[in-house]
Amino acid sequence: MSQVFLLGFKDIGRLPELLLKSGLREVIRPDNFTAIKLHFGEQGNIGYIRPAWVRPVVELVKKQQAIPFLTDASTIYKGKRSDAVNHSLVAAEHGFTIETCGAPVIIADGLRGNSFQQVTVKGKHFTSVKIAQDIFYADSLVCLSHFKGHELSGFGGALKNLGMGCGAKAGKYEMHNSVLPVIDPGKCTACRLCFKWCPTQAISLLNKKAVIDPNKCIGCGDCILSCSFHAVQITWNETYTAVQEKIAEYAAGVLANKKDKCLYVNFLNHITAYCDCYPSQPKDKPLINDIGLVASLDPVSIDQASADLVNQAAGRDLFKEIWPPINWADQLNHAEILGLGERKYSLEII
Ligand code: SF4
Ligand code: SF4
Repeated sequence: MSQVFLLGFKDIGRLPELLLKSGLREVIRPDNFTAIKLHFGEQGNIGYIRPAWVRPVVELVKKQQAIPFLTDASTIYKGKRSDAVNHSLVAAEHGFTIETCGAPVIIADGLRGNSFQQVTVKGKHFTSVKIAQDIFYADSLVCLSHFKGHELSGFGGALKNLGMGCGAKAGKYEMHNSVLPVIDPGKCTACRLCFKWCPTQAISLLNKKAVIDPNKCIGCGDCILSCSFHAVQITWNETYTAVQEKIAEYAAGVLANKKDKCLYVNFLNHITAYCDCYPSQPKDKPLINDIGLVASLDPVSIDQASADLVNQAAGRDLFKEIWPPINWADQLNHAEILGLGERKYSLEII
């Protein structure tokens, strides 16, 4: 059974204590290049982990005489983070600079998102995965995840940040490609917003309604995010499960050369239905009050504990309520089968 440590959100100033208690010293060794994996937030998003909270993490890593850098990989949708230049600029706009955080931003899969290392995994869907180059070559990793709802996996936490977040662009395509959405003509207003976000120009207008060409669609799901009218729907059968399993297999690829070299921190604040890839405000509305921060050496336990804490605070299965067709436990079960961690945990409040 793995240990998970909880710190109340009002005590966020004690973040260094949380990191030390949960095992940072055991994970990070002197001279390590230590990747601090983040989501810098899409332009206009306000849910991302704040630079001021990242600074103490950087300082503790430096105290271990390691060399930290802040990192993420490119997105496949056409936002502001789909290449290294614009991604770095958004990170800087959101305050992730050397001055504020004490470490540089390095976009891990290169200028155009095609810099990756092929890693062998023994998965149900993949035998090898495409991990962003600079994350592969890092010696240790601190995975800082904003825990919130997610339109493909019910919630997004450490496993999602690790698996989807550390995959290079081609890897992200591989993880998404079993998801094929359709547009409900009764709800579509032909506003064309989804056109802007579709990375493959798969959406066009037919009889004043948007339609998706299944031959062009790569299943990234970004049109779901972009539509304010809930017109984009997924014909879900086993696909929610498949996406989550694929994310877990990518997480296994990240950890293949970093066993016992990763520490996870989930921030349970500003808990929204949608992920931080969504730029506009209405979908940023928090669903419940801020809870706190959890930390662990186990990516499965930390996500299970995070989901439990959110659902306890809500008094119901919040993620099932907001995304009814999704069984969010699928990612945890598959990660457990792959040996990434265990769902059983003990929680200690510090
Ligand atoms: S139509 Fe397909 S490729 Fe385009 S945004 Fe939607 S899911 Fe992605
Ligand atoms: S964003 Fe939604 S309403 Fe607008 S065109 Fe696309 S599917 Fe239709």
